[in-house]
Amino acid sequence: MSIEDTQSPFDNIPHNSPIQPQRLSGSDKFSFNCYKGISCFNACCRQADITLTPYDILRLKDNLGMTSTEFLKTHTVPFEIDGQGLPGVKLRTEDENPICLLLDGDNGCGVYEDRPSACRYYPVGLLNMRAFKAEKEEQHYFMVKENHCTGHNEDREITIDEYRKEQGLEEYDDFNWQYYRLILKKKSSGPTIGKPSTQSFHFFFTAVYDVDRFREFIKTPNFLKVYAIPEDEYNELLNDDYKLVAFGLMLMHQVLFGENTIPLVENAYENRIEERKEILEAKRKLAEEIAKKEDPTDQYIKD
Ligand code: SF4
Ligand code: SF4
Repeated sequence: MSIEDTQSPFDNIPHNSPIQPQRLSGSDKFSFNCYKGISCFNACCRQADITLTPYDILRLKDNLGMTSTEFLKTHTVPFEIDGQGLPGVKLRTEDENPICLLLDGDNGCGVYEDRPSACRYYPVGLLNMRAFKAEKEEQHYFMVKENHCTGHNEDREITIDEYRKEQGLEEYDDFNWQYYRLILKKKSSGPTIGKPSTQSFHFFFTAVYDVDRFREFIKTPNFLKVYAIPEDEYNELLNDDYKLVAFGLMLMHQVLFGENTIPLVENAYENRIEERKEILEAKRKLAEEIAKKEDPTDQYIKD
């Protein structure tokens, strides 16, 4: 579970919500333990509502030996993160019950070493927010107390920072930070940046979640006519999923918000009109190429 918001995320919590309306920091303590043999073992995985991050998808598709496209088709369902079309993905559950498909019966999680961040965080929730007029985003936390989870009754005190370390969350958050920033900025900017086109959302989906399709995109000849990527960096992108998704996140900061995150071909927009035409034409062709290709994201994203 992860919540990103800008000001007061607790304002609209219903009275009977399991979310505790208190913002916590990393040094706050809570009583909790979870282990194989606890009476509620796997109860949480039978009521799964797991939002996936880009890092989760890379770890899971590697664990399952699938391409990102296969993984997205088989194991995820789409949702809108911001109510304006920004695509997110959740883990698929059984059709009739919210039982996670990755649960291996009584053995527990079938992908435990690579389980998603939301599973690692539970029962802590992550709260990325930027206070009004603040320059930087801050990371806070909140507690979720659901009746099925008896881990709260266990006699073990732990700080949230210690819990994050125990659950291996630091590397997940380090990788996902640009993703959280992107979502927070999109949600907080609202209509001021206009409504991105469906094509932009498709591009977001590909660049952020579907690394194998994104790799095909950066292999197209027009890509290097637009973006100035040194050859060694470009080769790393072609060969390293994690670097490529990190690059995709930075690219989306440029595509959605005009941030100067990826250098363009030198003087592309300032100098010769003919060159500018060529760059714009290359960009247009890139956009056409994306649109023409069979697009598996169509099934995930509603127009
Ligand atoms: S991925 Fe694993 S830990 Fe997470 S809900 Fe599914 S079975 Fe449970
Ligand atoms: S203690 Fe909570 S998190 Fe652990 S298995 Fe039980 S329900 Fe799931």
